Amino acid sequence: MAHMIIGGKAVQAQSGKTLEVRSPVDGLTFETIPRGEAADIDLAVAAARQALNGAWGKMSALERGRLMLKMAQHVLDHAEELALLEAQDTGKPMTTARNDMVVLARYFEFYGSAADKIHGEVIPFLNGYQVNLLREPLGVTAHIIPWNYPAQMMGRSIGPALAMGNAVVVKPAEDACLSCLRIAELALEVGFPPGALNIVSGLGEEAGAALAKHPDINFISFTGSNEVGVLIQQAAALNAVKCVLELGGKSPHVVFSDANLELAASTVVRGIIQNTGQTCTAGSRLLVQSDFYEEFLSLVAEKFSKVRVGTPEMNLDCGPVVNLSQQQRVNKYIAQAQQDGLKILAQGQIDPNVPNGGYYVTPTLFGQVPAEHPLAHEEVFGPVLAAMPFVDEAHAIALANGTDYGLLAAVWTENGGRQQRVAKALKCGQVFVNSFGAGGGVELPFGGVKSSGHGREKGFMALEEMSTTKTVIHFHG
Ligand code: NAP
Ligand code: MG
Repeated sequence: MAHMIIGGKAVQAQSGKTLEVRSPVDGLTFETIPRGEAADIDLAVAAARQALNGAWGKMSALERGRLMLKMAQHVLDHAEELALLEAQDTGKPMTTARNDMVVLARYFEFYGSAADKIHGEVIPFLNGYQVNLLREPLGVTAHIIPWNYPAQMMGRSIGPALAMGNAVVVKPAEDACLSCLRIAELALEVGFPPGALNIVSGLGEEAGAALAKHPDINFISFTGSNEVGVLIQQAAALNAVKCVLELGGKSPHVVFSDANLELAASTVVRGIIQNTGQTCTAGSRLLVQSDFYEEFLSLVAEKFSKVRVGTPEMNLDCGPVVNLSQQQRVNKYIAQAQQDGLKILAQGQIDPNVPNGGYYVTPTLFGQVPAEHPLAHEEVFGPVLAAMPFVDEAHAIALANGTDYGLLAAVWTENGGRQQRVAKALKCGQVFVNSFGAGGGVELPFGGVKSSGHGREKGFMALEEMSTTKTVIHFHG
């Protein structure tokens, strides 16, 4: 049975309650996790506070950085074990799971290296004054993360928080948290002081809600759905703490007729099938200039029809989706679009040897999707790509910005002026030009505008989000 880490100890829930963990590969139960509740969150927050007042709070930035670098190496030393856990828990192909662990280690490396390089400032002021701007931790930071990239998301969220000297409490997703529980244990092994890193597994409405509204936390980082994101911001408001929200997306590829056909087509397909479409930054809309729409879509369709779905061990393009309700959700979108008369241009194939009872879905490419159809503006969170034509640059920008979301976009053109104009006009947090990336890129500030959330993670901006400043004004005459 898996366990939580609270105050440097491996523990079960105080109530003794547990939850069963199902594998999306076959739908069967294979592990048990503690069902933490408000009482466990209370202990975790208290342990974090104690750590700030104790050994963790007294560590220098250099020592914190060294611990994090040690952790990066420890993660790499355990990468295969973590990847196997992640693949079993989420269903993702082994190659993806292995890559996720490299990214996890990168977060500890990047932020560990940065820990002693965040300096304060001296501000010139009136004669007779010395003004120092100190950069300080926020205190106890709460991290609520989703099931799609559990290990990566945990690294992304706690890396900058620990580097700045905060003590963290993590609530991973009930559907996939085994790698996260193990990461917390690995942190103890490398010598993080008790309470610096606490983790409480359990249900969102129980452990998650208790953490978000806890009166002794100083910050919340949340990645997940828009519905829950709003609840998190409400909880943060009641305690007047800051929150960073990374929510959904409906990210467009904008492909002009002068684009590198082959590169664009293969990148577009990869961008939607990665992690079986369960990526907030999935490129789920394909906007293509009308005069070469047919030519481009036939190439995309050809590549899309080669997509294969299987178990983690088969190591194909996609695994199953995470749970039954996600499977039903994706299938419902596909069935509804067909009922509405939308045309399927290509479908991937589920390997005939996958076990019964797994949560497999068929990757599907729809063509000529009207901008007002739900498939053109709602997040499916599955391997479903909606293509539509545009006539000119202005039309492309209007379509690209025409959803509530604003997380990421890609523009494909060889025209330099157009690259700059479109990148500036797109309303989102990241724009790729002649390329596309989801996950990774730990150096690159990331986050949304509009309904995709606010605040920035990754890069140096996350260090600013997870710290505060104090201005010390000293009159010396
Ligand atoms: P979710 O239901 O919002 O879950 C996210 C996390 O919040 C989980 O740990 C969940 O716990 C917890 N939670 C649920 N209800 C809660 C509550 N009332 N109070 C506090 N915490 C609560 O999202 P999901 O359905 O698992 O994930 C898919 C969604 O996340 C998609 O919409 C996707 O776009 C978004 N997402 C965004 C990003 C990004 O970086 N922008 C990344 C990944 C996913 P339990 O699951 O244990 O209930
Ligand atoms: Mg959920």
